[in-house]
Amino acid sequence: MSNVLHAPAEWLAELRALPSVTVLENEPLAAHTRFAVGGPADLLIDAGDEASFVHALLLCRALGIPHGVLGAGSNVIASDEGFRGALLRFSAAAVERTPDGLVHAQTGASLQSLVSFTVERGLEGLHTLERIPGSVGGAVYGNAGAYGHSMHQFVRRARYVDARGVWEIDNAACEFDYRESVFKRHKDRAILSCSLELPAADPEALAAEALEIRKVRDEKFPPSMRCAGSIFKNLFLANLPAGAADEVPLSVVREGKVAAAWFLEQVGAKGLREGGVRIAHYHANLIYNPGQGTAAELRTLIAEVKRRVLDRFGFELEEEVQYLGF
Ligand SMILES: Cc1cc2nc3c(=O)[nH]c(=O)nc-3n(C[C@H](O)[C@H](O)[C@H](O)COP(=O)(O)OP(=O)(O)OC[C@H]3O[C@@H](n4cnc5c(N)ncnc54)[C@H](O)[C@@H]3O)c2cc1C
Repeated sequence: MSNVLHAPAEWLAELRALPSVTVLENEPLAAHTRFAVGGPADLLIDAGDEASFVHALLLCRALGIPHGVLGAGSNVIASDEGFRGALLRFSAAAVERTPDGLVHAQTGASLQSLVSFTVERGLEGLHTLERIPGSVGGAVYGNAGAYGHSMHQFVRRARYVDARGVWEIDNAACEFDYRESVFKRHKDRAILSCSLELPAADPEALAAEALEIRKVRDEKFPPSMRCAGSIFKNLFLANLPAGAADEVPLSVVREGKVAAAWFLEQVGAKGLREGGVRIAHYHANLIYNPGQGTAAELRTLIAEVKRRVLDRFGFELEEEVQYLGF
């Protein structure tokens, strides 16, 4: 084990003895992130049941071991130097209907499995999130959404663990906003599960709409593309500096927002490259790694286009993608 942790050897033995726990040492994060960049995590701990996950996380805290939570790795840029400490993943993935009519999902479930579960049962709303990669945990954390719906509309309760124990909070306490939640601001909270309420609808109509969305998304983001979806958040027109807002044609404003891609296009971002990473020639907010890219190159390219937008429009784009180990 990496000596940066200075953790007692018996701690690792205790972790490994927990039911449903696996511990990998010096595990390359490039193998666990969709961007396929990132050096080794000292420890990558997977726990398949809530009690073991909570135990592992509280052990890290008690021993003062730096730690973080990773989901499916579809929205992170992991540092080329890796992660010093322990990264925890919660792999419990049950999705079920509860007697009160809600849908209960453990956060290790893939978002797609939750979407499919609701579509098959004629529950409306999450069908427009068809094909968004990642886990339910990552989706709650970032209030994932697409085509007019996002998680905040349906999550009634979320359960999480922090240094003081396990808690359950309601929708208001999740403090959801556009691609935001209380969990983004309190990274010490690991989300364990959530309960969702969705209105009834015709399952066939939902499935047909989901299929159309799937086709569009697969064309925009081919499933094998190493990327994180959109790098930057879109912008609320009302929050833009006056000069920038004046330049935006009303035809590109949707639900009060302007795509970050529009600003990026104006500064010539499409097709830019830095070392092994590129910006798609068809989508200025899509950076991908054709194969040999590094996190450092991603950071450089992101900084370059942010600088261009700042110089031209007078505001700073905000990353939707999350940094790990920097
Ligand atoms: C091709 C592509 C298309 C995409 N399209 C969209 C889209 O249309 N809309 C959209 O909203 N997003 C989109 N995304 C972004 C991303 O997939 C989602 O936001 C997803 O929800 C991230 O989930 P994850 O499990 O992969 O999280 P990860 O990438 O593993 O982690 C992201 C962040 O969430 C935190 N996190 C993960 N799980 C937990 C947990 N259980 N508790 C606490 N924190 C946690 C991590 O610490 C990290 O900071 C897209 C990504 C890709 C690659």
